[in-house]
Amino acid sequence: MTECLFCKIVERTIPAALVYEDELVVAFDDINPQAQTHTLVIPRRHVTSVADLQDSDVGLLGHLMLAGNKIAKIKGVADTGYRFVINTGVHGGQSVFHLHLHVLGGRHMAWPPG
Ligand code: AMP
Ligand code: ZN
Repeated sequence: MTECLFCKIVERTIPAALVYEDELVVAFDDINPQAQTHTLVIPRRHVTSVADLQDSDVGLLGHLMLAGNKIAKIKGVADTGYRFVINTGVHGGQSVFHLHLHVLGGRHMAWPPG
């Protein structure tokens, strides 16, 4: 039994508001949304962070981002624009240690990020 929160969402042992899934990734709405659209895209396979990806994972990373584009379309923010965020490690602000791509949209995003 995994102790990883996002693995449990993949396994459906804890609930989530699913937005999209395919053979490699699962996407669900963030429980604490920071914008009108705030969806997380995660690989089905447990990967701790983007820093743990190997050269052989280039396809998985591309798939994750292309799934993010699909979510932007599903959520209706593809035309107005959106932001992908991958927080990595302590200084990167990562709090859940299963790789996830944030898809944020529905408002103007500030720069620089906090
Ligand atoms: P990060 O800080 O980049 O690691 O992002 C982790 C994200 O996971 C945060 O935005 C949380 O709000 C979100 N989160 C934590 N638990 C859940 C959950 N059970 N369902 C959906 N999102 C969650
Ligand atoms: Zn996991």
